[in-house]
Amino acid sequence: MEEAVLVLIKPDALQKNLTGDILSRISSTGLEIIGAKVVKVSRELAETHYAHLRDKPFFEDVIDYICGKQHGRNKVIALVYYGEDAISKLRALAGKTNPEEADPTTIRGAYGRITTKGVYENVVHVSDSPENAEKEIKLWFSPEELIIDLYPTRTQVEGSRVHKVWA
Ligand code: UDP
Ligand code: MG
Repeated sequence: MEEAVLVLIKPDALQKNLTGDILSRISSTGLEIIGAKVVKVSRELAETHYAHLRDKPFFEDVIDYICGKQHGRNKVIALVYYGEDAISKLRALAGKTNPEEADPTTIRGAYGRITTKGVYENVVHVSDSPENAEKEIKLWFSPEELIIDLYPTRTQVEGSRVHKVWA
């Protein structure tokens, strides 16, 4: 099934200059890139993205991590890929959540680490299901930032500006 997936190149990857390697690993899947941008991550965006972890003891650390607090700058690269079995292909390429358990040939296995505080600095985020991919893509991207119409939209008028928003 053709599907879309959100990938985030996290602040540790950017600080370690891993962007090129990660993008070329992903290119090897043949999946199509349909959206890309550099994002300064607000606390609100981070908390919404990681809402499923709100009750975990490491929640604050993970929010600080995605906001770049430990890695010099508040920035991630956000990408949307599209194609056959995109989610399972990219989850396999990323490897397990825990970088110590991830196969060394995967992105997380090769470049991830666990901090002394126990946070998994695992280099990339990849959506884990079509439902979460839709939620995450709608959170990180507006319809006009994607070159394929993935989900229903509606037109919003703001003064003289007319633009598309997610329905
Ligand atoms: N995380 C962590 N410790 C854990 C579980 C998760 O530090 O025990 C961090 C890790 O950076 C992970 C993120 O929280 O990527 C989101 O967790 P999730 O369970 O969604 O894993 P993922 O989908 O990223 O593999
Ligand atoms: Mg997840």
